[in-house]
Amino acid sequence: MVRARAAAENVAHCVLPAVQVKDFERVRTLAHEFGDSYALGIHPLYVKQAQDDDLARLDAALTAQRDEPRLVAVGEIGLDYFVPELLASPLRERQEFFYVEQLKLARQHGLPVILHVRRSADMLLKGLRAIGNGTPWQGIAHAFNGSAQQAQAFITFGLKLGFGGALTYERAENLRRLATTLPLEAIVLETDAPDMPPHWLYQTAEARAAGAPQGRNEPGELPRIAQVLAGLRGLDAETLAVATTRNAMAALPRLQALLAS
Ligand SMILES: [Zn+2]
Repeated sequence: MVRARAAAENVAHCVLPAVQVKDFERVRTLAHEFGDSYALGIHPLYVKQAQDDDLARLDAALTAQRDEPRLVAVGEIGLDYFVPELLASPLRERQEFFYVEQLKLARQHGLPVILHVRRSADMLLKGLRAIGNGTPWQGIAHAFNGSAQQAQAFITFGLKLGFGGALTYERAENLRRLATTLPLEAIVLETDAPDMPPHWLYQTAEARAAGAPQGRNEPGELPRIAQVLAGLRGLDAETLAVATTRNAMAALPRLQALLAS
């Protein structure tokens, strides 16, 4: 299965983010079963079906699991301005509400954040500025694909930027430039599995129309994605792995104890 294949590829640890309250118990159970970690949050793609009192349930879960070493962040939270329905009222305001309220919860519970950024970097930064009130953040802006200026703004707030399968495409010039030129200490690796398939798993619309299923991304792809990034940066894969693991522990401090044991 997926986790065993990841282990066979030397992926020692996975962070499993929740996307809705319904998943909270499941990500926690899975993290315990496999020695991984998890995050609790309401994802912007799930705000449509979320209830207002889901925020109270998140708050309650964060309180109940306060001493849980495997709970490493509030996430995934954020804003998605790519999906047309979410960009328009009322879901646009709805996801902004959930984002800001969850930033507050992360602050109250002293936890890092894992942010979903999709054409929404400026608005996310605005929330970090408003709720952070001049104090730094911890966490990851995952699947980042914005401008160099926006990248720098997230870094200045204290966040790391997550890169994954999208950078394996030669045509992803902006993303490759960013992943190559940003300071090494600002970068973490991710798969975003089952999404963001690297190019070797990707099936074109044509191939899919002919019956080929879209390739499913898995955590076990991480070493190959890392090799691509190492090649772009002119590093050996080991150096990149050591650096990005260190960065992940800085972004999600509870990982330190989990990775040491
Ligand atoms: Zn995401």
